[in-house]
Amino acid sequence: MRRIRGFIYNSDINRFRTYFQVLAFGLLIYGGYLAIDISTNLPTFACPFVGNSRAGTCYLYPLQHQLNMSFTQFMGGRGVALLTGFVIFLLLFILFNKAWCGWVCPLGSIQDWITRLRSRLGIRYSNYSERTFNGLKKIKYILLALLILLTLGMGNAIPGIGRLPEDFMTPYCMVCPARTLLPLFNGDIKELIIDFSSKTKMVLTGLGMAVTGTFFVGAFVKKRFFCLFCPMSALHYTFSRMALLRLLKDGSRCTKCGNCYRACDVGIREIADDVISKNIVRDDCMMCFKCVSACPEERCLDVRFLGLSIYRSTENGFFKRMEWKVRDGD
Ligand code: SF4
Ligand code: SF4
Ligand code: SF4
Repeated sequence: MRRIRGFIYNSDINRFRTYFQVLAFGLLIYGGYLAIDISTNLPTFACPFVGNSRAGTCYLYPLQHQLNMSFTQFMGGRGVALLTGFVIFLLLFILFNKAWCGWVCPLGSIQDWITRLRSRLGIRYSNYSERTFNGLKKIKYILLALLILLTLGMGNAIPGIGRLPEDFMTPYCMVCPARTLLPLFNGDIKELIIDFSSKTKMVLTGLGMAVTGTFFVGAFVKKRFFCLFCPMSALHYTFSRMALLRLLKDGSRCTKCGNCYRACDVGIREIADDVISKNIVRDDCMMCFKCVSACPEERCLDVRFLGLSIYRSTENGFFKRMEWKVRDGD
């Protein structure tokens, strides 16, 4: 048992995560060909616009559909579908917490691959100042609130406006880059258009094209650029404290060397600065555990599932990974 643990703690988790992301991407986009269906309430962007080849669906899609109901319909039975979907989403999320972002989400993986390409091309990336970062990260909560309010406004009259038109059925999907990008991996280009059938659709799909362009440019300049604005991430964080997978920190072992912060693709400062909190998962964390492998202090950062340590910072592991980095010229 000690040997297995030693092997895991000394491993290069980032390389393993890269392989896992490729597998998860293939499964989510093409798994349907093998009749695999994981769930229609996944806490990650497995876009339903990919068509029948997909093996799962992002929870934001059914959520928007289900919120399109009046209070009477909710009480009359349609509410059961909404609650069932939510419970499945919650159970899946509680199991793996925000690791859905770091290990499974196709949009997250695409951004990581763009980052790799940028670094191969030798193009530098930029960081946000703390103030800008703290300001921008609030946008995802605003988007989540809009997604809920607009879809609720279809089933329920808004004072002074009335009910919103059917074009607001899935407003977030219309602007989400997953809708335009993921079907491309299946050879489907039909989402890469602006829909002129109504003014609302024209504006929403036009915005969708603009967001897709920004997704690419942003990912080239900042690591995980889009994730900072993602409403799914906002939904995750609301329930993160209940999850079984946790990233814990023992502040008494931290020397504030900053290695973890420099390794973190989403620039979470608290991972290095906060020596008080035990639970160190913040709203933008994607549970990639790069911080854990970059930490040189024994048992300072610890990944636990159901209370059991599954990966942790060790001095030995840190020096092994340093050796590999020097050998590979990273
Ligand atoms: S935050 Fe990023 S990785 Fe997580 S669901 Fe959103 S796009 Fe995917
Ligand atoms: S790498 Fe470890 S010791 Fe250094 S600041 Fe981060 S948590 Fe503290
Ligand atoms: S804090 Fe750690 S686990 Fe979270 S995103 Fe940053 S490096 Fe990854």
